[in-house]
Formats: sequence, structure tokens, C-alpha cells
Amino acid sequence: MTDASNDIVDFHWMLEILQTIDIGLIVIDNEYNITTWNAFMENHSGRAASSVKNQPLFEVFPELPEAWFRQKADTVRLLSIRTFTTWEQRPYLVRFRNYHPITSTAEFMYQNSMLYPIVDTKNQVTHIAVVIFDVTDIATSKLALQEANGELERLTRTDGLSQLFNRSYLEESIHRELQRSRRHNHPASLIMLDVDFFKHVNDTYGHVAGDDVIRFIGRQLRLNLRETDTAGRYGGEEFAVVLPETSANDAKVFAERLRLIMEDSTMKHEDTEFKITISLGIAELTDTMSTEQDWISSADHALYESKHNGRNQTTIFKTK
Ligand code: GH3
Ligand code: MG
Ligand code: MG
Repeated sequence: MTDASNDIVDFHWMLEILQTIDIGLIVIDNEYNITTWNAFMENHSGRAASSVKNQPLFEVFPELPEAWFRQKADTVRLLSIRTFTTWEQRPYLVRFRNYHPITSTAEFMYQNSMLYPIVDTKNQVTHIAVVIFDVTDIATSKLALQEANGELERLTRTDGLSQLFNRSYLEESIHRELQRSRRHNHPASLIMLDVDFFKHVNDTYGHVAGDDVIRFIGRQLRLNLRETDTAGRYGGEEFAVVLPETSANDAKVFAERLRLIMEDSTMKHEDTEFKITISLGIAELTDTMSTEQDWISSADHALYESKHNGRNQTTIFKTK
């Protein structure tokens, strides 16, 4: 037998196997009409081979993007090579309902697919075989893992009580902003804030009431920030906010708004009501601050002045 006739025998063997295994097989001619449709295709599409034979592929599957598919098929035909599409590039080639509703939550069947040329004895590509693999289980577990990793990443940078960023992420953000603002020669400000007489809150109303105050400040910061600002809990009842593209005077507008919100709010714990205030310090980044620690200490210095001068106020750091 010649190589070509060997290939044909091999191909018929393969067809028989593909008819019975759990893989989809469609064969189309060069006009995109369907010539072969295996049992997998019948089961998942609900259409018998006899009803799709000689039908144009794009009519049987209107969801199949025609231009994209033609381009793939042209490559297969011209170069006589296989092409492969994974579910990550395109979740499915043809839309089938997911038939593993118990083991996975996917709405549709994720598919890897392969197109390969079928040649005649003169080595001309006369047909293309489209092979479809059901990879729903692999895809859904990979997607679930990605989602879990994303959530884990979010948790590792979040402070549980305030739902703001935690100290380590905050320090990274301060460092990043320091470099970014240096590179572009743009202003940036850092606000440090601390609850006044917080020990007194804990001592008088209990630790749980103190925790409520931290939650409340977290919520107010989240509500009042711009999208580009980063707020985090720096320590016990101390918070920091990084404000890119913001001068100290502009940061003061934000700081004062927050201070007044706190001053005007009434905390409630069980049946008791109480008031709290906060003190704030602002440092605009200058050339004399070479590390993020210098920047943080400057804002902290300004915060200390607010405390020293009577609390419930905002101070801007001044270089001497
Ligand atoms: P001031 O800042 O106005 O000088 O006085 P302060 O009473 O707030 O002083 P300081 O900053 O020294 O006290 C902070 C207190 O915050 C001490 C600690 O018991 C309390 N604290 C720290 N972390 C938490 C927390 O997560 N929950 C609660 N409820 N209290 C905390
Ligand atoms: Mg305090
Ligand atoms: Mg403190």
C-alpha cells in the first residue's frame, strides 16, 4: 500500500474510534458543509447526523464566529497543519449545555478544539476535521482556584476590622507613590490620623465599642476617598491615606472634611451614645524625604503637633 492509502485506512480506523469515544467530531468540506457528525455531537446538540449532513456549519451553529473560524480553516487548508484552540482563548467553539450539573457549576461546556486537515491521495486538503474536547471539569476547577487565589490575595492585604488595607500593603503603596511622584515630578500627600483619647473609649465603653469606632472610621474613609487614593490601618487606632497628585493644601480639604464628619457623628454602643474626634497630620512629599519612612515620620510629626496643640485638628508638616 502507498503512504496515502495507508493514511486513508488509518483515518477510517480513527473515525470508527471517534464515533464511540467521548469526543466531538465534525468533518466539513471546503464549502463548510457538514459531512460527518459523530455520536457525541448528536448527544450534545440533540440533532441527528442525518439532519445536519450537507448543511452549512455556520447555519447549524450560528454562535460560531464565522470570520474567525474561516481564518483558522484557511490556515489549516493552506499549510496543511493542525490548529488548536483552548478554552482559555475561547471558552467554547459551539455552545452546548454543561451536562455535569452536579460536579460543576458551569452553564455551558468548556471546550478545547482542534482543526486538522484531511488530504486526498494527491495531498490536497479536501476536508477539515473539527474535534471538540469537553474540558468543563478542568476549566471550572481552574477558574475556582483562580477565584480563591484572588480572594486570598485580597485577604492578605486587608485589615479585617476596618476593611481598609493593612499596614504592609499600605507601606508598599506609600513606597510606590513616592517613586511614581518623583518620576513624574508631581505632588503627593500623606495623611496620618489617630483617634483622640481612644484609651478612654475602651476604658469607658469597652473594647467592643472601641472596635466599632475603628469600623466606623474605615467605612467613612472608604466612602470619602477618591478612586486613586489608598487608605489603610497603620496601627491600633491610627490610619494613613496616600493621595497622589495632591498638594498639602488640597489634602487638608479632605482631612478637614473627615475630621468634621467624625466630630458630627454620634457613636452608639448598646444603649450608650458617645462622641469621638480625630487628629490629623499631613506631609506633602519633598526632595528632603528620601525613603517612605521619612515621609511617614513627617506626617506623624504633624499629627503629633495636632495632638500637642489640643487635638481634633489638622496640621501640615513644615520643613524647617
Ligand atoms: P491620644 O491618641 O489622643 O493621645 O490618646 P489615646 O488614648 O488614643 O492614646 P494611644 O494612641 O496611646 O492609645 C491607643 C489605644 O488604642 C491603646 C489600645 O488599647 C487601643 N487599641 C489599639 N488597637 C485597638 C483595637 O484594635 N481595638 C480597640 N478597641 N482598641 C485598640
Ligand atoms: Mg489615639
Ligand atoms: Mg495611637
